[in-house]
Amino acid sequence: MEINGKNVQVLYGDYIAVKDMSIHLKKGEITTIIGPNGSGKSTILKAITRLLKYRKGTVLIDQKDILSFGSKELAKQIGVLPQSHTAPPDFKVKDLVGYGRIPYQSFGKKNKEEDERIINWAMKTTGVYDLREKSITQCSGGEAQRVWIATVLAQQPEMMFLDEPTTYLDISHQLDTMKLVKKLNKESGIGVVMVLHDLGQALEVSDRIIVMKHGEKYAEGTPEEVVTRKMMKDVYNVDCDIVWIEGRKKPLIVYREI
Ligand code: ADP
Ligand code: MG
Repeated sequence: MEINGKNVQVLYGDYIAVKDMSIHLKKGEITTIIGPNGSGKSTILKAITRLLKYRKGTVLIDQKDILSFGSKELAKQIGVLPQSHTAPPDFKVKDLVGYGRIPYQSFGKKNKEEDERIINWAMKTTGVYDLREKSITQCSGGEAQRVWIATVLAQQPEMMFLDEPTTYLDISHQLDTMKLVKKLNKESGIGVVMVLHDLGQALEVSDRIIVMKHGEKYAEGTPEEVVTRKMMKDVYNVDCDIVWIEGRKKPLIVYREI
């Protein structure tokens, strides 16, 4: 499965948030979008998942225009965890995860056993099965994040889109989330597209990185190709060194300013 966005332009009023961006995403890969605040990361992510209308351009899922998908049909292809999301406070974890099954249910036609099996699988895979009877508001930040990921998983999409899945988590929960994403990608073959702020984590987990600046794509490629001193200066206005350490597969970013 592939997603091909061509010359996508998104406006808020008359402000151009994404200019003329082409983006190619493949199932099986982990792609990370990086860039400063306000560079258009969330906007392009929403545009290519049809959460937001684009003014110009096309988005194709395997040659088929995304606009021609029915909403349930689309939900079987792509699952999205937006940057901010809220659940009704009295929702139990298992019920929230159960929402992921809606695309597979039609009026008068419910496969309860199958749904239950997949809901349980999604909760076990993300490590929230023991929380299933708890209300979502009783979960810690890290737990809640895993519950949301479980909800996307229960949808059984070909690709999942996570906008800043680690923001507000402490470092150990950030790493847990990265490990989970990697596991889902490697074991279930699910394609992952994320927005991350931590460039070290982006370097570590991504097969491909897309860098955005001022609503446009600045660069794209493997982490090693993309994360350079020049990029860091041009995009973030930060001086750093990219350092290779023996025994590590990926380089480190060492900031000169601190
Ligand atoms: P990022 O996710 O990279 O931080 P966004 O895609 O959220 O950036 O935003 C891109 C630009 O569009 C920013 O300048 C932001 O202020 C603006 N923007 C985002 N959402 C809206 C909105 N709903 N209305 C108007 N402007 C918006
Ligand atoms: Mg954002």
